[in-house]
Amino acid sequence: MSPLTADWSRDVQARGDALVALRRDFHRHPELSFEERRTAAVIAERLHAAKLEVRTGVARTGVVGILRGDRPGRTVGWRADIDALPLTEAVDVPFASATPGVMHACGHDGHAAIAVTLAEILAARRHEVAGTVVFLFQPAEEVFGGAREMLAAGVLDDPRVEEVYGLHLTTRAPAGVLSVRPGPALTSADFFDVEVTGQGGHGAYPHLSADPITAAARVLLGLQHLVAYEVAASEAAVLTVGQFAAGTKHNVLPERAVLRGSVRTFSEAVRAQLKRRLAEYATHTARAHRTEARLTFVGDGCPVTVNDAGRAAFVRRRAEAEVGADRVDDTGSPASDDMALFLTARPGCYFNVGAAPGTGGPRPHHAPQFAIDEASLAIGLRTALAVVLDAARG
Ligand SMILES: [Zn+2]
Ligand SMILES: [Zn+2]
Repeated sequence: MSPLTADWSRDVQARGDALVALRRDFHRHPELSFEERRTAAVIAERLHAAKLEVRTGVARTGVVGILRGDRPGRTVGWRADIDALPLTEAVDVPFASATPGVMHACGHDGHAAIAVTLAEILAARRHEVAGTVVFLFQPAEEVFGGAREMLAAGVLDDPRVEEVYGLHLTTRAPAGVLSVRPGPALTSADFFDVEVTGQGGHGAYPHLSADPITAAARVLLGLQHLVAYEVAASEAAVLTVGQFAAGTKHNVLPERAVLRGSVRTFSEAVRAQLKRRLAEYATHTARAHRTEARLTFVGDGCPVTVNDAGRAAFVRRRAEAEVGADRVDDTGSPASDDMALFLTARPGCYFNVGAAPGTGGPRPHHAPQFAIDEASLAIGLRTALAVVLDAARG
C-alpha cells in the first residue's frame, strides 16, 4: 500500500504549525468532563469556517461535524475526545494550563486538534473526497460518560455511520511508532465500592465488637486470589484498590470500613465473572468475620475496546505505509477508553500514536508531568487522513 499522495502530504505539512498552535490553545485552556464549553466553541467555530454541517450541544458539550464529499462513497466516523483532568500541571511551558487544578494530562487536546485539522484539510478539497465523514467530538471520556450520551443522541444514525475510527496519543511509545491491535485492544473498567459494616467498640474489647477494618483488610488481600485462581492463564485481569477508609482513633473500633477499587479485563466474559465473584467474595469474607459487606459498582463502567479484525488490518497497512512497517506494532494496553461503546455500536479501529518526548524523564498519562512530543501530532494527522480517505472511498 502506498503512502498519502504528494498533494495530501503537502496539506498535512502546510498545516503543521497551525495544528501545534491549536493543540497548545486547547492545552492552555483545559476543561473538565461535560464542562468543555470553550473547547466546543472553538471546535464549532473552526468547523463552521470550513463549511461543515455542525451540530453543537450534543451530549451536553459535544460537537458533531459532517463533511460530505462530492463523490459517492461510504459514511465513516472519526471520533476525538476533548476533556481534561483534575490535576495541576507541573510542566513549565508557555502554553501550560492557565486554569489551576485542571490539565490536559491525557493528550485529548492533541486528539481534538488533529480532528479539527483533518476536517479542514478534507473540507478544502471536498470535490476530491469520496463519501461522508462524521466528526465526533466527544466530551467526558475521562468519566466514561460522553460516548454513552453521544450514542443516545443518535450521532451514528443520521447520516448512518458505517464504521468508526479514532486515535489516542500515548507516551508509552516514542513519536513515529504506532500500535494497531486487532481484537480486544483496551480493557474494560469497572469501579467498585465495598462497604463493610460491623459493630464498633473499645480497642481493648474486640471480642465484644465486630471489627470492620480487619474484615475489609481480609477482603482486600483476598481479591488477588480471584485473579490468580479463577481467571484462566490465557486471560488477563487487573484488580486494584485505590482507597481504604476507616476509623478515627487508636483505640476505637469503628462501625464501618470502605474500600474503593477497579477491575479491568480483556474479555466481557471474564468481566462478568469477576464482577459476580467480587460481590460473593466480599460478602462471604465479611461474614466470616461477623460483619456484613455490600458491594456496589459505580455507574455502568466501560466495556472492552474491541477492534474489528478486518478494519485493524486495514489501519495497520495504512499506518505501515506512513511510518514504515518496522515502526508499527500491535501492543495493547490495560487502560480503558469509552471509544469501546462506539466500537460496540459499529465496527472500526482505535489505534495508538506514540508521543513520548525524548527527554525529561517519564511522562505518564494522568500525571502532572505529562507532556507529549508534538511531532506526534502530524504523524497522527497523516495516518488519520490516510485511513479516513480510504475508508470513505470504500
Ligand atoms: Zn485519560
Ligand atoms: Zn485518554
